[in-house]
Amino acid sequence: MGLGFLGINGLPGWDWDFWGLMDYRDGGNGAFRIYSIFEYHYSIMKRQVLLLSSSRPNRQAVYFSHARGAIENILKGVHRLLFIPYAAPGGATYSAYTGSIREAFAGVGLPQQVEGIEAYKDPVMAIREAEAVFIGGGNTFLLLKTLYDAELLTPLRQRVAEGMPYIGSSAGSNVAGLTINTSNDMAIVHPPSFDALGILPFNINPHYPLEESQLHSGESRAERIREFHSLPQNRQAVLALYERSMLHLEGHKMRLLGSTPAGQPAAWLFRQGEREPVAYASGAELSGLMEG
Ligand code: ASP
Repeated sequence: MGLGFLGINGLPGWDWDFWGLMDYRDGGNGAFRIYSIFEYHYSIMKRQVLLLSSSRPNRQAVYFSHARGAIENILKGVHRLLFIPYAAPGGATYSAYTGSIREAFAGVGLPQQVEGIEAYKDPVMAIREAEAVFIGGGNTFLLLKTLYDAELLTPLRQRVAEGMPYIGSSAGSNVAGLTINTSNDMAIVHPPSFDALGILPFNINPHYPLEESQLHSGESRAERIREFHSLPQNRQAVLALYERSMLHLEGHKMRLLGSTPAGQPAAWLFRQGEREPVAYASGAELSGLMEG
């Protein structure tokens, strides 16, 4: 027998036509394959992801004051939020970090009960049963290594594909990308791989400055990203997010959110082989980036 294409248009609940590869080499199994492809694509449409560049718009500001509305939207109907404190900013203990996020949520009137994953004996089960997950900022290398050590990457990918809301801030946004090579952090530990969750088919660079300080004479951020793209194997795009920006992914639709100083970009897209990044304003539709 062989392979054939199956096309189905306009099914209820779908916003695009579906074409799947049908394997009819062995009858019944072929039908099962089609069902699996359907299930996968249908669940991808339920993805709900919110990636913050930073958990506060500047050092003096109240945590989440810039992101309250977006967090409220993505957590509609969620009562308990599972917080992952593994990035341990400034060496914070997990319980202190979870406590500060709990306080910050209460401080801006977000009603969710925040529970740290450190309180669970079985972190894999905690992810499997979570209503929603928030991965906080800190050191991206430490975060990714700890996620690998606890074998949480696969369950996280599965739950996100099933539609469990995922919020990341800074390091927690970096790990939603393809790899963590474009984090700003020091490599204080050695994760088994720099490959991250790959919810996005590109990389993130958070905390992108509107202006470089003239007092800093190391490479500018743009130069660091160009160094990444100068290596032939680094073909993925890098989306650099300004402090107050957020990336919202719902199914296949992706949009930039957040307020920027008047007329300033919210994000910059760097691509291999292109000298200058393309700047995007808040509100820009970036769904095309999900196609790679
Ligand atoms: N250290 C940053 C954070 O999580 C991540 C980064 O800058 O790449 O705040």
